[in-house]
Amino acid sequence: MKESLCKKYGFDTVGRHNRLRLMRLEEQDHLLAKQLNEQVICPQLDQLIDEFYDYMLGEEQILHFIGRLDINRLKKTQRNYLQTLGQGFDSEFYFEKRLQIGLVHSMINLPLTLYQCSYFYLQDLLLRKIYQTEGLDAQQRSALYEFTLKIICLDMSLATDTYFSNNVETLEKSVNRLREEKDKLSTKVNVDTLTGISSRGHVLINAGKAMVDSRKNGESFSLIVSDIDYFKAINDTYGHAAGDAVLKNVAARMDNLVRGDDMVGRIGGEEFLIILPGSDLEMASTVAERVRESIEKCPVKFQNNVIDVTMSLGVAEWFPDETLEQLINRADQALYEAKRSGRNRVRLTELAGSGR
Ligand code: GH3
Ligand code: MG
Ligand code: MG
Repeated sequence: MKESLCKKYGFDTVGRHNRLRLMRLEEQDHLLAKQLNEQVICPQLDQLIDEFYDYMLGEEQILHFIGRLDINRLKKTQRNYLQTLGQGFDSEFYFEKRLQIGLVHSMINLPLTLYQCSYFYLQDLLLRKIYQTEGLDAQQRSALYEFTLKIICLDMSLATDTYFSNNVETLEKSVNRLREEKDKLSTKVNVDTLTGISSRGHVLINAGKAMVDSRKNGESFSLIVSDIDYFKAINDTYGHAAGDAVLKNVAARMDNLVRGDDMVGRIGGEEFLIILPGSDLEMASTVAERVRESIEKCPVKFQNNVIDVTMSLGVAEWFPDETLEQLINRADQALYEAKRSGRNRVRLTELAGSGR
């Protein structure tokens, strides 16, 4: 069941009492509500509604908004509104109905100014009708005037409450939707679709960050570039789907082998980059060797095939002032060296100019 608007906006007995106090509506106003209804509104209800809508439809800006709606339905709603105006104004039922009005107007995107104008016009119309009503003395007229001002003010305040809150809620919802979209998009950009590990862009951004941190903290930073050996032959022998299964399997295994701060990303077809913040060349070589061994030891099972896979890896440690591109190039050269010297092996690059 839908939550009542009174509950949602805090109009319990105390809340209603407070709002009525603001509008200076009191117990004796119930009598005036009855009088307004019986002597002014009901005897000329049709005329009131027609005059009200003649005005509304005569206003270009308002017509723009309500012209596309079913006028007969609007008139029926307005009839109900006028017949109940001020009747039991302190009840939960009255508040609920008046709160609903703002919600409806917010949903059809009626601009607040036009909305207020229609209340002012209705008020003006009622005041004129009171003036024209026969059989009222000056005191009664003035009391009815005052009551009309107060009750329209109450109705307007309630409708404005829901009107605004609904607009804010709608905005909040679209902000949340945008946020979710953004999260989804960044996941899409950061994650490699096939393997589920970091994408090329993501791992490279993190490599850049790790380098900045190393410069700041004076800590080592190393990386490993790795490439599956004879991968084309795997595709050719077992098919592309088998190749994909190998990529997924190898990626997952590498991801499992590295520590929390390290990161594995897929930077090409069957090429991976491992970044190791805080690791020097020796530590990184140990990781590379561990990866090589693990890939070699566990062939990938795909359908009825058991596919042997090996990997070559190049390791480089960052030295201050070196760019990421230079660092990756050095690791690439080491990888090339590993390939050239027979594959399924790890090769390191010496630190440039260090003599190591
Ligand atoms: P090397 O030992 O020198 O690295 O030889 P290689 O065969 O692994 O290298 P090569 O560059 O000749 O071939 C890589 C192959 O990887 C070619 C390409 O079709 C395949 N490949 C690239 N991306 C994908 C992919 O997403 N899925 C599959 N199944 N194959 C891919
Ligand atoms: Mg290869
Ligand atoms: Mg390759």
